[in-house]
Amino acid sequence: MRAEIIAVGTELLLGQTVNTNATYLSQGLAELGIDVYFQTVVGDNAARIRQAIELARTRADLIIFTGGLGPTQDDLTKDALADYLNRSIELHQPSMDKIEELFSSRGIHMVESNRRQAHLIEGSEPLMNDAGLAVGNALTEDGTHYVLLPGPPREMKVMFEGPAKAWIRSIMGEERKLFSRQLMFAGIGESSLEEALIDLIDAQTDPSIAPYAKDGEVAIRISTKALEQAEADSRLEATEQQIKSRVGKHLYAREDIPLEEAVIRLLRASKRTLASAESLTGGLFAQLLTQIPGSSGEFAGGVVTYTNMMKHKLLSIPMSQLEGTDAPGAVSESTAALMAERVREHADSDFGVSLTGVAGPAESEGKPVGLVYFGLAERGKPTRVFTAHLSGNRGIIRLRAAKSIMYRLWQ
Ligand code: ATP
Ligand code: MG
Repeated sequence: MRAEIIAVGTELLLGQTVNTNATYLSQGLAELGIDVYFQTVVGDNAARIRQAIELARTRADLIIFTGGLGPTQDDLTKDALADYLNRSIELHQPSMDKIEELFSSRGIHMVESNRRQAHLIEGSEPLMNDAGLAVGNALTEDGTHYVLLPGPPREMKVMFEGPAKAWIRSIMGEERKLFSRQLMFAGIGESSLEEALIDLIDAQTDPSIAPYAKDGEVAIRISTKALEQAEADSRLEATEQQIKSRVGKHLYAREDIPLEEAVIRLLRASKRTLASAESLTGGLFAQLLTQIPGSSGEFAGGVVTYTNMMKHKLLSIPMSQLEGTDAPGAVSESTAALMAERVREHADSDFGVSLTGVAGPAESEGKPVGLVYFGLAERGKPTRVFTAHLSGNRGIIRLRAAKSIMYRLWQ
């Protein structure tokens, strides 16, 4: 549970009063195992108290106010929160009786404003004040818990230690937990993914949809607050379906695994094997796949044929294909196709993959940085070649190249 303390009082902002209530409450909440993420101080001003509530609402599950429960016109906390929640103000009769009794026992005339101390936000729990007159309030709306305590430290402490703590403990028992699901995408950038979903992202608060970039992949986390798994699942499922209907073809996993792990799983499920011939990635493709434990069942191996001579010697690519004025060159569709076919034949695997391109920083064979050709040879099928124009520095281009061809294995 994330908590925020909002201390209300212009005297705090003027530096006339030290905000000891926040210190006291932070310690008390820490003892209850509740993390205080923010302490806010706001003056006795309805509009600014409302702003503080609006902000706290987005980042805390439990919001504790101190101050502004008194009788005077500058005591605004209850009114501001009631207004924010569209609730009315009610009179808490036991507190009213207590106030009237006190005034009559002292023989003083009770002014109308004293009734304000018996005010209760509609539908809230009263927190009895054993050290003063103003009644505290506690309520929950939309999964956010609100506790209103008086400003004078002596009253605040007695109320916090007694009825407020009891109430907080009771809500902790039925706290809604955060449930999330992670969807992993490849073959689409973070900004394109966000663009495709922007209206959903903007409209949703629960479940929330948060895209973020990982190395060569993009993830979306869908989160919801719920009391139990089944309740969370139905909401997460509905959001997932909406996302899939738009960008489903880029989805490669429904849990946080890298693309290479998904590739190994895919091959394992279809009982197929793969071999690679790499140029610009220098073995990175093989390195990523072999990081996955047990991948020898699916990944036969790979060759790094960096120079033309190695392409010729290890993969029998004719030199006339690689060099000469009219030759397609090492970075070409036809070389990519040949590399993939030859390595597949050597390994006798179901798939042969090749990567040849320009990682930079300078162009090569008159071809621009970021141009990459991928060959994908499949037993008994025509070889396919894909082209990519990748951006980034040398390291990023190499990583994106390795991941790009992994994604193509799905298609
Ligand atoms: P009252 O009935 O006394 O008006 P209240 O709940 O309206 O109580 P405030 O008017 O905000 O509370 O503050 C009353 C007094 O309590 C302040 O003058 C100040 O001395 C003290 N006080 C208020 N807030 C804090 C705080 N955050 N930390 C320490 N002392 C505080
Ligand atoms: Mg006051």
